[in-house]
Amino acid sequence: MKHTKVRDLLNSTTTLQEVNAKGWVRTFRNNQFIALNDGSTINNIQCVVDFENTPEETLKRITTGAAVSVIGTLVESKGAGQKYEIQVSKLEILGDSDAEKFPMQPKKHSLEFLRENAHLRVRTNAFGAIMRVRSVLSYAVHSYFQQKGFVYVNTPIITGADAEGAGEMFQVTSLPLDNLPKNEEGNIDFKKDFFGKHTNLTVSGQLEGETFAMALGQIYTFGPTFRAENSNTSRHLAEFWMIEPEVAFNDLDDNMDLAEDFIQYVIKYALDNCKDDLAFLEGRLLEEEKSKPQAERSEMALLEKLNFVLENNFKRVSYTEAIDILRDSTPNKKKKFQYLITEWGADLQSEHERYLVEKHFKCPVILYDYPANIKAFYMRLNDNTEPGRETVRAMDILFPGIGEIVGGSEREERYDVLVQKMEALGIDKEELYWYLDTRRFGSATHAGFGLGFERLVLFVTGMTNIRDVIPFPRTPGSAEF
Ligand code: ATP
Ligand code: MN
Repeated sequence: MKHTKVRDLLNSTTTLQEVNAKGWVRTFRNNQFIALNDGSTINNIQCVVDFENTPEETLKRITTGAAVSVIGTLVESKGAGQKYEIQVSKLEILGDSDAEKFPMQPKKHSLEFLRENAHLRVRTNAFGAIMRVRSVLSYAVHSYFQQKGFVYVNTPIITGADAEGAGEMFQVTSLPLDNLPKNEEGNIDFKKDFFGKHTNLTVSGQLEGETFAMALGQIYTFGPTFRAENSNTSRHLAEFWMIEPEVAFNDLDDNMDLAEDFIQYVIKYALDNCKDDLAFLEGRLLEEEKSKPQAERSEMALLEKLNFVLENNFKRVSYTEAIDILRDSTPNKKKKFQYLITEWGADLQSEHERYLVEKHFKCPVILYDYPANIKAFYMRLNDNTEPGRETVRAMDILFPGIGEIVGGSEREERYDVLVQKMEALGIDKEELYWYLDTRRFGSATHAGFGLGFERLVLFVTGMTNIRDVIPFPRTPGSAEF
């Protein structure tokens, strides 16, 4: 007999048929009621064991965490809380789980404890829900771009370009670290390394992505990126997944429209396809917030917040306007910001971003036209900026509770301006000759952005630490599993 997924059993339109279910025991009550979960849904199916006709030996082995197979009749449940249950006629223990030793007890565990048990935390309600939502969101990412005719590009994970400039890089080598070959100058001889040159793990697929956009028109990447930055925050991972669309002939406004439409689409997709999981996560968040002081609790419940993002346009604000708002803000005047805003040109810290989004505008914000000298070399210089106040066509999207979720720009398409900028910043033109070729042969306006997938998953699930929305987090000092 083939077994049926619990999700399909609970959605069944008929009863009284014989069914087989396989899964893991969540709880076993009164020597009679198994709450069985197989990961297909947050909901368990109740399996009613005929304990009088089941050997004591078997009953003892129905413990939290054990894998079991039950055969029985699917019937309408008389008990509260579930529509259907299985009246078990045959029960087989597939894999025992020592109740004394199984770390995932049916009680509340701290998120820290669960992180240390990342291989088992996925057996809890919360992490099952988070990982299903994550999976649905990745599908939505592809679905959005594929429907619009974007080409999915796999940019390299090992990169020969040192100058991507987005963050600190992990080096990749097969040289023996205890016996490094040296060249005549006494430096490490990377010519002897695997690729015959120095290589790194990519921090972004953008530069390679641009070369594809300049041929295929609209492309997107969705893959792992790596940053060796030592920022131990609840928003940074050393290994995370990034989505990077790049579109030929798009300017900054088109770029903002695309980002907004994309984010709204994937959130809507999750709302439509993860109802049970999101309802559970909303309850989890409410529970978690009870332990916080009133002032720190969110004003909206999870689903309300997600719907709010769908129904409201993101507020578009220039950097210059943002600086004026911040300079006159109460926390700035009362010196509550750690970094006070005194003049135009200041880099915005996450405290400022969060003030703008959470206190001032109270909705997602797109900041654009940043000072040139705090942004990357490839961003397009604005045409009519005052000397000393040059700005670039950059945009960051800021989300409540998250801060920056998207960073993007219109790219500098003018060869001469780009070369000048690279020279000023000491970026090696020889090394990036292939990037410059996009500007030498058929250059055109184009724009793109990078969205950190985990920050999106954080927002949609209402979790607060990025380590809790990726299966096996990599952070400074931690690469378990
Ligand atoms: P932040 O200022 O938050 O460190 P960033 O300016 O370094 O971000 P970008 O280089 O523009 O970010 O990367 C694009 C997007 O990738 C960001 O908007 C964010 O969503 C995500 N991102 C960047 N760094 C990380 C990280 N270490 N872990 C998870 N996501 C990240
Ligand atoms: Mn960063």
